[in-house]
Amino acid sequence: MSVRCERFDRQITIFGAEGQARIRAAKVVLVGYGGLGTFVLPQLCLLGVKSLAVIEYETFSATNRNRYFGFLHSDYDAEKGVGIDKVFVAERIVKGIDPEISIKLIRNRLESPEAFEAVIGADVVVGCLDCDGARAILNELCVAYGVTYIDLASEVFDDGTFGGRIAVVKDGSGCLQCMGDGLDQTEIRRYLTDEQQLENEAKVYGVDKRILSVGSGPSVVDLNGIIASLGVQEFKLLLTSPGLQSRYLNYRGHLKTISKVEVRPAGDCYCCGLYRKEDSADVWRYLTK
Ligand SMILES: [Zn+2]
Repeated sequence: MSVRCERFDRQITIFGAEGQARIRAAKVVLVGYGGLGTFVLPQLCLLGVKSLAVIEYETFSATNRNRYFGFLHSDYDAEKGVGIDKVFVAERIVKGIDPEISIKLIRNRLESPEAFEAVIGADVVVGCLDCDGARAILNELCVAYGVTYIDLASEVFDDGTFGGRIAVVKDGSGCLQCMGDGLDQTEIRRYLTDEQQLENEAKVYGVDKRILSVGSGPSVVDLNGIIASLGVQEFKLLLTSPGLQSRYLNYRGHLKTISKVEVRPAGDCYCCGLYRKEDSADVWRYLTK
């Protein structure tokens, strides 16, 4: 089948048949199918991505109902308190848009051999995670194996401000640890901490250990949609018009602004120093988490 087919006619006039062919040929891995991921996946399919993998181990829950695009009311049984596996909805969405798209479902954590192998084999990874712990691992994995990684994050703060950012990690020149605001090192440490250590820390602070857990912050549908679309736009530009693509974008919803953050050379960033050095990086140590 020719790439030049009716399905993509309206966008081929924007970025050309060559750009469409690059989108079609790209192997894309989506990490996290939640508030952001459910907006990203259908857009990737509509753009013409033909080879996808989705990494997600959770099931749909009652608190996801306010923002998960494409999930049905019947996907969660309130009486039984049981929800559908999120990856099954990912498959339903993809096949509903185009049955010819190949989708590999990885119903497992990022810290699993099959997830690591999918990431390493990808042309582009899109991260739709909700905590900096998982981001740090994915960042290191992508840098060590030279995989281009587009990371999306939405943010809602206690003072009523909100927004998010899109970061593109590639070429060993800037990663999530050294670009923009970097990553939250406390959150990373807590993510890598085991249950017993977390319990001990909660005792020290005199708080419930759930407060120290990560990934259950405020989240709302419109903000996720904006950040997801900005991320997909960068994906599209990366493959079709690289000169227009940005490395780091900040969205400030309360100010109604999107700004491009200049990325300086990585300098002494430890993680950037691992670029394409799989052996020294030893990312497989995370599988024992
Ligand atoms: Zn770096």
